[in-house]
Amino acid sequence: MAQRLIVIGGDAAGMAAASQARRRRDKRDLEIVAFERGHFTSYSACGIPYWVSGLVSDRDQLVARDPETFRTDFDIDVRLRHEVTAIDLDRREVVASDLERGGEVRERFDTLMYATGAVPIKPDWAHTDVDGVFGMQTLDDGAALIDWLEADPKPRRAVVVGGGYIGVEMAEALIQHGLTVTLVEQAEQPMSTVDPDMAELVVDAMRGLGITIRPGLSVTGLDERDGRVSAVVTAEGPIPADVVVLGLGVRPNVALAQAAGLPIGPSGAVRVDRRMRVPGVEDVWAAGDCVESLHRVSGMPVHIPLGTHANKQGRVAGINIGGGYATFAGVIGTAVTKVCELEVGRTGLRERDARAAGFDFVSVITQSTNRAGYYPGARFMSVKLIAEKPSGRLLGAQIVGWSEAAKRIDTLAVALWNGMTVDDMTALDLGYAPPYAPVWDPVLIAARKAVDALGTTGR
Ligand SMILES: Cc1cc2nc3c(=O)[nH]c(=O)nc-3n(C[C@H](O)[C@H](O)[C@H](O)COP(=O)(O)OP(=O)(O)OC[C@H]3O[C@@H](n4cnc5c(N)ncnc54)[C@H](O)[C@@H]3O)c2cc1C
Repeated sequence: MAQRLIVIGGDAAGMAAASQARRRRDKRDLEIVAFERGHFTSYSACGIPYWVSGLVSDRDQLVARDPETFRTDFDIDVRLRHEVTAIDLDRREVVASDLERGGEVRERFDTLMYATGAVPIKPDWAHTDVDGVFGMQTLDDGAALIDWLEADPKPRRAVVVGGGYIGVEMAEALIQHGLTVTLVEQAEQPMSTVDPDMAELVVDAMRGLGITIRPGLSVTGLDERDGRVSAVVTAEGPIPADVVVLGLGVRPNVALAQAAGLPIGPSGAVRVDRRMRVPGVEDVWAAGDCVESLHRVSGMPVHIPLGTHANKQGRVAGINIGGGYATFAGVIGTAVTKVCELEVGRTGLRERDARAAGFDFVSVITQSTNRAGYYPGARFMSVKLIAEKPSGRLLGAQIVGWSEAAKRIDTLAVALWNGMTVDDMTALDLGYAPPYAPVWDPVLIAARKAVDALGTTGR
């Protein structure tokens, strides 16, 4: 009799695992059923801001594989609009509600893949029936916002609450849609994924684009007129709004796992071992935004919900479920984003993380151009490096700048991943031609400055 794999969650991690398992075991050997409570499988939430801005014209472009493709090409039985409501580890069963037709199904499993993603953080004031308030996590959220932006009366004033990368990307999308945008952030600065000195550059650029930034301010409520949002309420008074977008971060979606008794780690996400197996439970695997990962620099378990990790972790789980052998090597927190033309990249530890992890370190910031200074289109970028003292090992890096800035973070991520020192980095053989870099690439210039700050010889 075929073994049975049940997957909970039909997006990046869940479907990567399902397809990898299928590549290794055919349907006579392994039956695969995937439950997804939403309307789509394998969709790119990451593309939502660019769909809202109009850069991506069609929702279907954001769906990598639909349920039909999984059925016909992979023999995976996808059950859309089915929400798993319980996992019974003793009976090896899941219980799922049919959200369209009503009723409940019970399905047996030999192997379980838990890939429920994350839940957007929603304060009490955001639990409302008032129209014009949107979270931003699924394609349905994106579609609802686009409908609202295009319906009459057309909204003119947008407030984005929360200045993480989703809030910042949504602010850009709304500006490009022609709205006036205010971004409210309760911390001292938006973009807390980089250090304050680098975030300041992002804030300046956002203001330059016409986005009003209100840092150090908490939203406490919403005002409405005729059932439509009319303002967000703050301690400094109301801010008028015809549309409100929430970008307050996410937490791991562990409710089902917790109820079933799966282990939850110190970061609040599901614990997994290197092969993405949930420890202490037979044949239960987990991946993506619902799990914690090992941070390779701090050595701590962290919850960093990113699509890049979800896909890799899902693949690792699927290879193992299929009978192969794979491990997930951990994360270093590499991420890139942009606000209109301004690009932001980060990897490794920020100063506050390095301090919390107990490192002694130096940090330097350099400014240099993306191309030879004389070459048309040359623009500045700021590169920040954080290096351990006295070893010189790179601990973290951040880049803020115009064209071709953000992806330079990948060079730094590779250096950091491999434990390079800033002294080693000054000798890296990076490509040079005037259209692509100055003769000393910004990465090399920053490494040299870090060597100077450490007081070591350098090259
Ligand atoms: C606007 C936006 C922009 C982003 N941009 C980037 C980016 O540029 N780069 C990057 O790396 N990451 C980005 N991300 C994050 C990325 O989308 C997530 O990290 C990734 O989708 C996580 O994949 P996942 O499979 O773990 O979880 P999810 O994509 O959240 O999928 C989990 C699925 O499980 C389903 N589910 C949950 N509970 C149940 C249940 N009980 N029963 C049935 N189904 C259930 C959900 O409906 C969901 O479809 C962005 C996210 C958003 C929202």
